Amino acid sequence: MTDSEWTAEPRPLVTMIVPVKDEEQAIATFVQRVTLVLDSLAEPRGWEILFIDDGSTDATLPAIMAANRADPRVRALSLSRNFGKEAALSAGLDVARGEVSIPIDVDLQDPPEVIGEMIAKWRDGYEVVYGVRRNRASDTLPKRFTADFYYRAHNWLSADKIPEHAGDFRLLDRKVVEVIRTMPERNRFMKGLFAWGGFRQTSVEYDRVERTLGTTKFNYWKLWTLAIDGITSASTVPLRVWSYLGASIALIGMLYAGYVAVRTLVYGSDVAGYPSLMIAVLFFGGLQLVSLGVLGEYVGRIMVEVKHRPIYVVRTRIGMDGPPGGMH
Ligand code: UDP
Ligand code: MG
Repeated sequence: MTDSEWTAEPRPLVTMIVPVKDEEQAIATFVQRVTLVLDSLAEPRGWEILFIDDGSTDATLPAIMAANRADPRVRALSLSRNFGKEAALSAGLDVARGEVSIPIDVDLQDPPEVIGEMIAKWRDGYEVVYGVRRNRASDTLPKRFTADFYYRAHNWLSADKIPEHAGDFRLLDRKVVEVIRTMPERNRFMKGLFAWGGFRQTSVEYDRVERTLGTTKFNYWKLWTLAIDGITSASTVPLRVWSYLGASIALIGMLYAGYVAVRTLVYGSDVAGYPSLMIAVLFFGGLQLVSLGVLGEYVGRIMVEVKHRPIYVVRTRIGMDGPPGGMH
């Protein structure tokens, strides 16, 4: 039995999956605006908002509990500590009951008004409808530049292409959610997992606005780490590069050795050559360290995987307890 089968009630149509870390100011506004949108769908099967409290240290959890008391369609998992957004999303997918699941950020940078359009595409037969940011005006120039560069690098190195400028805001059919749930890896770069899953995919465009409530939880270092996670989990090209680079350098070395041997036979030997020797030593020393580093990245990930620890730990559930069949 999976977590999502805790109740025998009919599935709601939509589950909004909302990871939150220290977002006390954003919860009430989010619930209000998303409720408006979801109610306007006038869908008899209903909907649920599923918060994943990712180890918040402020009053996020009380805010969620208040929202749940006001409307039992708001539910939540509270994790035992901060596991990161990707793990929080995985937790959400594990307990989502909806016919479709829609991960969304709580800061309303991605307009929930697009949900109606997403559902329309889903009814047309698409199983994944990802939101694409029409402009990135709300991001700073360096962020836009690095994001651009990252998508290119990722898609160049990896066979599973991730759509450019698509965030985690997307509609996922139940079938897709089931596939993601069967993926056992600890290292969860969700965009990569979604891409691997395949299925019929399409997109809707929207304008992304600036964050008005709370502050961003991602700095450049976190984004860089996420980027490395993404590439190493989706591609082995960085590992293979060294075989080709090593082979090319060895070939050049052999040619050069032949040239030196012939020259010595013809012209005799000279002692000069300290600078070129030094350059060669430093260059190859550096190259070897880099290749070792890349190896280390992968070995480190293997270590994390073989430990087989859970991806997240749940401390409390809100709006999910009660006898089977009961909702609240
Ligand atoms: N978030 C999370 N765990 C973390 C960091 C962020 O659940 O460790 C949530 C955060 O509360 C928000 C979403 O992930 O709902 C996106 O975060 P944010 O808006 O700070 O990212 P940005 O839009 O700046 O990339
Ligand atoms: Mg944001």
